[in-house]
Amino acid sequence: ERIKLLASLSGAAPAQTGSRGWSLPGVEEMEFMAKRAAALGIADPFFRQHDGLDGATTSIDGRSYINFSSYDYLGLNGDPRIIARVEDALRKYGTTVSASRMVSGERPFHRELEHALAEWHGAEDCVVMVSGHATNVTTLAQLMRPGDLIVHDALAHNSLIQGAILSGARRVAFAHNDVAAAREQLWMHRKAHKRALLVLEGHYSMDGDIPDLAAFVALAREFDCMSLVDEAHSTGVLGAGGHGIAEQAGVAPDSVDLWMGTLSKSLVSCGGYIAGRADVITYLKRTAAGFVYSVGLPPPGAAASLAALDIIREEPWRIARLRENSVHLLRLFQDAGFDTGSSAGYGIVPLVTGSSVTAGRLSQAVFEQGINVQPIIHPAVPERAARLRFFVSASHTTDQIETTAAVLVRELQALSE
Ligand code: PMP
Repeated sequence: ERIKLLASLSGAAPAQTGSRGWSLPGVEEMEFMAKRAAALGIADPFFRQHDGLDGATTSIDGRSYINFSSYDYLGLNGDPRIIARVEDALRKYGTTVSASRMVSGERPFHRELEHALAEWHGAEDCVVMVSGHATNVTTLAQLMRPGDLIVHDALAHNSLIQGAILSGARRVAFAHNDVAAAREQLWMHRKAHKRALLVLEGHYSMDGDIPDLAAFVALAREFDCMSLVDEAHSTGVLGAGGHGIAEQAGVAPDSVDLWMGTLSKSLVSCGGYIAGRADVITYLKRTAAGFVYSVGLPPPGAAASLAALDIIREEPWRIARLRENSVHLLRLFQDAGFDTGSSAGYGIVPLVTGSSVTAGRLSQAVFEQGINVQPIIHPAVPERAARLRFFVSASHTTDQIETTAAVLVRELQALSE
């Protein structure tokens, strides 16, 4: 119905459903959005192919751009020291471990990485898996059951939601970063459920804001909840040493039961992990389907993250530089009167345009001026919260940050004329 309404408003015919009698969920909306963007002259900003190594700059179709679409917060992708460690691992172990670790895929670097990550989070033990998304899905699905309660931030990542749904537990969202709202949900629902899990992120990727960890930890204690914090965007980013939200907030790491993280962002690889109590980690390694029935981390991937952890330990200036760059861009945007939402200035800077069309047009206009930044549009966010989202890196230069702000000011002004 919504598609028909939108189509009638735009005068376009509603798209036909999929082929051979299949009706693919959401296909009409997807096709309609593509047509609408094309009618407005907005090129598809997704699936752009990068020619080589992307970082603070990138090359797309032979042209160089200042890049704000990489999660490589610390500028480590392609670091020669990491490449050397990866090459050693490749020569020694090859490209794959070819099987689940439980069967025949276990290699020394798996435990080495798990011990390093456990130490990083001040946890007893850790398990690494081949995807960050799958780590959340399989962990929540395995740990929670029907009759249990999962209380999560309304902006929790899709992987956390999918895991919560798969678990069969009762799932309740609370207003973003709102401790009082979380308390209200726990007050209403906790008693009726056997076990409860409070789910947060250490740093939210849409808005770049962070939770009041101490208050949430106290809440979890008060209502006898386990807690899981997703550190995908805070490992290597928050805290002077990059140990995440606990270090940043001065909260003891063992106040949180499970630390989840990804290897794909500051740790420049691919995979996910859960760090926490040794008995829970052993349980996950024996039972979580996404671990038991999936291949172990490949040698190059594990070597890259191990090397990245060593470099972050030795070069904490990267974390400070990321902060400086982020605050600089944030201030320049704020001085220009832009809406930057609730960003705390740790690598994620949104520029809220308040309309998907404006976000799409602005992204395209600045792309033509040599800046690669993605629009986040409805339905990923509510229409009034449509935005461009800048992922800042420690390796952006001051000049790149200032050029970017100047181009944005100019192009946004041109669009509103
Ligand atoms: N958690 C959060 C908060 C994320 O933002 C992401 C991905 N961006 C993931 C989990 C999944 O991680 P990965 O992309 O490494 O699979």
